[in-house]
Parts: sequence; structure tokens; C-alpha cells
Amino acid sequence: MTDVVTEPAAVGTQHSGRRVGFISLGCPKALVDSERILTQLRFEGYEVAPSYEDADAVIVNTCGFITPAVEESLSAIGEALEATGKVIVTGCLGERPEKIMERHPKVAAITGSEAVDDVMGHVRALLPIDQGAFTGLLPVAAPGMRAGAGQPTSQPERELTKHGDVFAPSVKLTPRHYAYVKIAEGCNHTCSFCIIPKLRGLQVSRDAGAVLYEAYRLIAGGTKELMIISQDTSAYGVDVRYRESEFQGGQVRAHLSDLAVKLGEMGAWVRMHYVYPYPHVDRIVELMAQGKILPYLDVPLQHASPKILKAMRRPGAGKQLDTIRRWREICPELVIRSTFIVGFPGETEDDFQELLQFLEDARLDRVGAFTYSDVDEADANKLADPVPQEVKEERLSRFMEIAQRISAEKLAEKVGTVMDVIIDEFNDEEDDAPGTRLIGRTKGDAPGIDGQVYLFAGELAGQVKIGDIVKARIEDSDEYDLYGEVVEKPEWSPNVPQLGHFGGH
Ligand code: SF4
Repeated sequence: MTDVVTEPAAVGTQHSGRRVGFISLGCPKALVDSERILTQLRFEGYEVAPSYEDADAVIVNTCGFITPAVEESLSAIGEALEATGKVIVTGCLGERPEKIMERHPKVAAITGSEAVDDVMGHVRALLPIDQGAFTGLLPVAAPGMRAGAGQPTSQPERELTKHGDVFAPSVKLTPRHYAYVKIAEGCNHTCSFCIIPKLRGLQVSRDAGAVLYEAYRLIAGGTKELMIISQDTSAYGVDVRYRESEFQGGQVRAHLSDLAVKLGEMGAWVRMHYVYPYPHVDRIVELMAQGKILPYLDVPLQHASPKILKAMRRPGAGKQLDTIRRWREICPELVIRSTFIVGFPGETEDDFQELLQFLEDARLDRVGAFTYSDVDEADANKLADPVPQEVKEERLSRFMEIAQRISAEKLAEKVGTVMDVIIDEFNDEEDDAPGTRLIGRTKGDAPGIDGQVYLFAGELAGQVKIGDIVKARIEDSDEYDLYGEVVEKPEWSPNVPQLGHFGGH
């Protein structure tokens, strides 16, 4: 773990001396780390500053995955430094402090990822506060307890792991109605294009009980959709030998299928991300067919040519098409999302044709693709036969043309049906009565990466709120999105008592 401390630069406006600005960059996994730091900041009495002008210091949670992300992180650090002079850097890029110090020698401290305690140590050193003040205590509601009433006076419940002190965040950076739940950190694979295992270490799984209590608390507080994330969700629990832990008086194994069963029983939407096609995923797909969790799998396949998959050293590669066909037999409504890399070193036109054929055969619902680019310190940089940039780009556009056509065809099949849609935002135009136009997502769309549903509220205008799950008649579609009208607004009734609604759901 990196941990660099320097003298802070002597600039910045003084306020109460305990206002911390926060910049969160990177993937949902980094977002969860940001939530943990923000939770602890507020627990210790710090205020979160809405702008540089209001901040006494700034924490930048960085991304170090690909070159553009590194650049974005470095320029955010520069901006924060210029504005306040006191900057603590954390996150993936923090694992490579020399890169940061080279450009920004005046940062106050650098820590790696998952380093809540180290970050807090640096915050306390930079902005010491009178512990007696303790004004920013954030209510952390225990399951079934109303937030703000009978609060614990000790630290929030914590779970010790090799990565340090990990606890369920109570500050969320997502809207109230959905949340990311991280079930493990790190990765045991060695994909040749990826440096995440070097940055974040080997996999460390959380106990199933801790994950389930976090999910329970979120749903009790109004969260309707849980996104389950980690680097390799199918491998959850392998590192702790699927050890059992307590949840509501029983024991639960740290195994994906056991976890999915328990999560499904809570009655919220449960969405699985970063699932590799291992045999035991069939059981997860069965739970989808039974309506226990969402019929949605985010499976990063990256390529279809066995030669390229071998060069990528991908986990779970091989017989991908058979696996997808089997999953669809088990759960015909399954929506599969995947990502691919085109132009990997050594990719010939034949390999690429194999990928295109796979795309035609697999008819994946949601597809993202990137051209390959070197990542500092990745093994793939040394591979022979790099693909010229113009060939990569030409392949990407041929790939996306097919992916878009398939997406449009699959979405057109939804026209005329009635689908469940979770509402993310209002989309009213100037002359509309409030709540006339809405934007939401179906069970087959994850926030931020998949399509959206543009809706007229019709007779329910003004009655539908953000976070409601409505029934909508689909009337039109294009390459990525659906269009329709709300026809019903059923009551939301999860199997977890709702805070503020005691005595019923
Ligand atoms: S599975 Fe591969 S790509 Fe994903 S985090 Fe692990 S090493 Fe990186």
C-alpha cells in the first residue's frame, strides 16, 4: 500500500477548518470507496464542501485504469491543488505515487485504494478538529431502526479484511432508489491487458452476512435496486473458502448462489455485474427464471477468438456460445450485456471475423466495445503484432454497426408489450405540467451503461415519483432506447420493513 506525505502548499481560503471537498472518479467500485470515505468524514464531524471555494482541503479518489483516466485524475488533482493547496489523493492511481509526485509534488498525501483509515489519518492531520464538537455525526440506522432515532454512539459496524477496515457506507453517491453493493475487492486473475490485480491486490471477499445486512439497511431506507459488483462476481467467496457468517439468526455461505437467494428474498431488484461464465452461474440464471433476481447478466467476454482469448488470459473463456444458449434456455427473458476489445495485439482479420460471427450468433442485448490501447505496466504491451490504429478504428465501427442493428432488432420486439420501468428522472419540457415526461429503465437496463425508457405519464402525470417502479406500455424503439406511456403505478412492497412505515410495507 502506498502512503506518501508531503508538506501542504500554503494557499487556499480558510473556513471552519473542517470542510472537505471530494472528487470521485472511476468505476462503481471506486464510487463505493468514495461512499465509505464520505461516511467516515461525516461520522467524525467533517463537513462535505460543495465547491472548491468552500473547501479547506480536497480528497481526490482517482482512477488509474487506462491512460485517459490517468490524465483525468492528474488534471483533477492539479485543479484541486490550485484551488485549495491541500489535496489528499487516494484510489487506483494512488498505488503509483511516483506518477502523481512527478506532476504534482505539492499534494499533501497519497494513499492507495480501499484506504479509508489512511485517508482519514491524513484528513485529521491536515484539518484537526475538536472531537468534542462532533457535529457531523451521520445516522447509521441498524436494520429495522428508524434513522435518527436511538442511534449508536460508537463507530458504525465494521468488518476487518486484509484490505483494512471495511464497512458498509451510509453516505450514498447514487440516487436513493439504487445502490452499488461491493461484495469483494481485488482479483485473482492475470488478464494480460489489465493491471487491476497489481493496483488492488488479490481478491478479498466480504462475509455474506455483512453484505446482506448492508442490503437490508439500504432497502429499509428506500433503495429499490441493488447492483452487485466486484472484479469477478462469480468468484465471490473463493478466497474465504465460502465461509459462513451470521444473518438474522442463521448462517449464510459466502457463495454467489447462496447470496443471490438471500438477496432475492428481500424483494428489491437485484442486478449482477461482472459475472464470468463459470458453470455455477447456471444456478444464478435459474434464480432469474424464478423471478428472484433480475434477468440480467453483465458478462465481460472481451473477444470470441480462442487464440485472442488465450493471449488475453481470460477467465472462463471457451464454449461461450454454448453457455449463452444454455442460459437462454433456462431463462428466455435473460438480458445479456457484454464488453469487447477490438484490435488486441495479434488480432488478424480472421480473428475479427470470428468475433463478428459470434456477435451475430449470440445476439447479445447490450454491447460495449473499445479499441485496444496499452496500459502502463500491463503484460499485453509486450505482445507481438500490434494492430495499427486505423485498422482498430475501422474494426470498431464495423463491430458497432452489427451490435447496433442487433440491439435495434431486439428492442423492436418489445414494442406492444407492458414492462416494469424504474423511474430515474423527470424529463418535462417548459410547457408541461410537472411530472408529464419521465425517464426510466427496464429490468434489462443498468444505470449509466444501458438504454433508457422515455415515458409519458399520461393519466398518472404528477403522481409518479423518482424511484417508483411503474408498468409502461412500450410504443416505439430505436437502437438503444424505448418509448412509451405509463399505464399503472403498483404499490412497492419489498420483504423488508420500510423506515418510516412501521406496521406495514
Ligand atoms: S478479471 Fe481480468 S480484467 Fe477483470 S479485474 Fe481481473 S485481471 Fe482485470
